[in-house]
Amino acid sequence: MAAFDLIIRRGRLEGHAPLQDVGVRGARFTRIADRIRERAAVELDADGRLVTPTFVEPHIHLDKVLMAARVRPNHSGTLTEAIQILQDAKRHYTVADVASRATQVIEWAVSHGVTTLRTHVDVDPLGGLTPLLGVLEARRRTRDLCTVQIVAFPQEGIIKSPGTARLLDQALRRGADVMGGMPYNEATPTDSVRHLEMAFALARRHGAPIDMHVDETDDPHARTLAELAALALRFRYKNRVTAGHVCALAAYDDPYAAKVIALLAEAQMHVVTNPATNLMLQGRFDRSPIRRGVTRVKDLVAAGVNVAFGQDCVMDTFYPTWGQADPLEVGLITAHALQFTQPAELHTLSQMCTANAARVLGARGYGLGVGAVASCNIVDAHSFADAFRTRADRRYVVFRGRVVAETTTVSKLHRRVGGGRSA
Ligand SMILES: [Zn+2]
Repeated sequence: MAAFDLIIRRGRLEGHAPLQDVGVRGARFTRIADRIRERAAVELDADGRLVTPTFVEPHIHLDKVLMAARVRPNHSGTLTEAIQILQDAKRHYTVADVASRATQVIEWAVSHGVTTLRTHVDVDPLGGLTPLLGVLEARRRTRDLCTVQIVAFPQEGIIKSPGTARLLDQALRRGADVMGGMPYNEATPTDSVRHLEMAFALARRHGAPIDMHVDETDDPHARTLAELAALALRFRYKNRVTAGHVCALAAYDDPYAAKVIALLAEAQMHVVTNPATNLMLQGRFDRSPIRRGVTRVKDLVAAGVNVAFGQDCVMDTFYPTWGQADPLEVGLITAHALQFTQPAELHTLSQMCTANAARVLGARGYGLGVGAVASCNIVDAHSFADAFRTRADRRYVVFRGRVVAETTTVSKLHRRVGGGRSA
């Protein structure tokens, strides 16, 4: 029997000076060495290109993708109006339609080198379980390409949307893996705390981790992030709670922000920032200067909090026009939002869509190492920074030892004979 099913030749791996051969047997990396003498049935010549673990998308709304063209425009550009527009559409969702839109965007993500995704799916009396059933069907259709975790997400609130708690319980029974939340989207701070407590009760009943939309607002008085961290500590949910967006943290004064960040670090919480969407949604009531609405990533990282970035939205009412489920594109936007230019910052950026995002999802066997799951990208670049700069082709995407996508873009210049001299 052959020692290897797949060998990647002459790959550029972070932390290795010489180019490396990467050997795969079955679904695992089994050797990484300067030179592998054996042959394999499938060999890919990286020819000095960057080899990365496949990207992890930790926050995307697959039930809402591609809806922008079907509904009226979001005139205010705000989160509130985006939610309102979708309320009508959601009543008329069908499982087939949600499945087909979600499948399309999953396929884009895979061609962009993503083979692990976490998606938030609306669960409420407006759409019932239709969004969930649609995304479950998309997950089934694409299981040869990637793995998908589903968050049961009470977009419309729990307290102000009676019937949601029961549906969330059903969603977690029928295939959702993670308990979601949106505590700020309740009428009062008291109700926000009740929302958090109900979400924890459901999560604990199902043994599920928690991933919430937290304080997606410029309101410096939004306080649900600290409440979430306090509950994570009270219920011994260390390392099992993720907070997405957390825009208000950027609006706090420095002493209070430092206090909350210390609490997040103590609870070993994860944070997912979504700069593409929040640059678009936040600061809509500002004249000038207009706030960025992007959370304090540098401070969080310095405090030891695990931070990843996500796409969040693809052509929906929150983020019309834009998005293609490409972490290199989102990374480029993130770098601008966070003012990342230094080598250490670019390293952090690369981790935010790979190892850090994998930690958010609790992905097992992740990474480019012997014994890890053989999922990797050959990227048409020589460094991660260059990959972000050019959104380089993912020449090959390998998922569990099998090539699942390839992309080659060809550009040609057509010169006059004699070159650029004028006649
Ligand atoms: Zn979101």
